[in-house]
Amino acid sequence: MSLVVQKYGGSSIADAEKLKNIARRIIRRKEEGDEVVVVVSAMGDTTERLLRFASQVSKCPNQRELDFLLSTGEIISSTLLAIALHDQGHNAVSLSGAQAGIRTDASYSRAYIRAINPQRILKELKKGNIVIVAGFQGMTGDMDITTLGRGGSDTTAVALAAKLGTAICEIYTDVSGVYTADPCIVPEARKLKEIDYEEMLELASYGAKVIHPRAVELGKVYNMPILVASSFTEETGTLIHEGISMEIQNKVRGIAHDLNVAKVTVVGVPDRPGISTSLFEPLAEAGISVDTIVQNASVEGITDLTFTINRSELGRVMDIIKPISLSIGAKDCIGDATLAKVSIVGIGMQNTPGYAARMFRTFYDAGINIEMITTSEIRITCIIKEEKVPDALRVLHSTFDLYED
Ligand code: ADP
Ligand code: ASP
Ligand code: MG
Repeated sequence: MSLVVQKYGGSSIADAEKLKNIARRIIRRKEEGDEVVVVVSAMGDTTERLLRFASQVSKCPNQRELDFLLSTGEIISSTLLAIALHDQGHNAVSLSGAQAGIRTDASYSRAYIRAINPQRILKELKKGNIVIVAGFQGMTGDMDITTLGRGGSDTTAVALAAKLGTAICEIYTDVSGVYTADPCIVPEARKLKEIDYEEMLELASYGAKVIHPRAVELGKVYNMPILVASSFTEETGTLIHEGISMEIQNKVRGIAHDLNVAKVTVVGVPDRPGISTSLFEPLAEAGISVDTIVQNASVEGITDLTFTINRSELGRVMDIIKPISLSIGAKDCIGDATLAKVSIVGIGMQNTPGYAARMFRTFYDAGINIEMITTSEIRITCIIKEEKVPDALRVLHSTFDLYED
């Protein structure tokens, strides 16, 4: 008998029928002789709805209360799944993140797991229960409830798998694995049999939301293989693990896109020491992370400064930056929420020249204008107009031969 950790995402348990179906899958696994710990996300768009409620009662909801509120989405799904399992004649118990022993720091909305005390889970398994853990949440040392960031149930699952010492962590979702690009936008994208942690981390961090980046990070640290597969079919999924052969790595592995991008340009700034500090320090104090920053060469002591942020934070950023821009003598400050990031990722790119040039040429041939560029050792990212994303993903697929295995 072995212990397995499975995670089911929100769309896989979006209604009662889907929940009952997942209960049947879990039972099949149990009947094959495995002990099962299940992590669930909130049903369907519950988290979005809860966020909407909060925004209807306050423009700036208190962070502690917001985390407590959002955690209830996963409580609903875990309890309902336990009830469905009881109804099908099986012993099951649901646990909140706190009851499951997940301790976090106090950084609300993006808390880090500091420790897991698995005693309660182990006790319930010993009693013969299927254990259902509410994903995406934990508790601070002061017993406040925290959440791990959007998509964070994946991280709960990998952390539990590592703590419980399972051989693998299984993530079940509404697509049947990790594809060379989002299959909902590029239907011809190819499913990968396997992918390295590092490549998956880069794809996930740059928008491939099929798995939470921190889940991949934990997988790498604990060398925990992660299987991403379908909640609905028995198709073979994608294995995220270490040590994929160099031959396979020697090309672009996948393309990520991210629509949560906005650009802010401070126009006509006097080019003198201290200007960047006066713009970026207040943003840092407000907990806003700035991504790409570009400062133009100055002409007669005047320059433009452009940076990108999460689109969801554009309103807050403009509220902070507009008055500062004017006070430092800038001519204007313009926000643009029509952009997106498109990134090619592959470990094989790191020592091979020419990938950036091919990406830029591909965009030029397709009439796609590049607004900004950033790179890492294994990634090249271009910021382009959001409306060009589907075209960009398709042309990059052809250029880098991603349609073929
Ligand atoms: P869950 O609710 O199961 O956590 P998510 O919606 O968070 O599911 O993630 C699954 C979605 O990720 C898919 O429906 C797909 O649209 C999207 N996605 C983005 N990039 C990729 C990719 N490279 N491979 C597979 N799915 C991707
Ligand atoms: N329910 C949370 C979210 O929508 C966490 C998750 O789905 O993993 O972000
Ligand atoms: Mg998810």
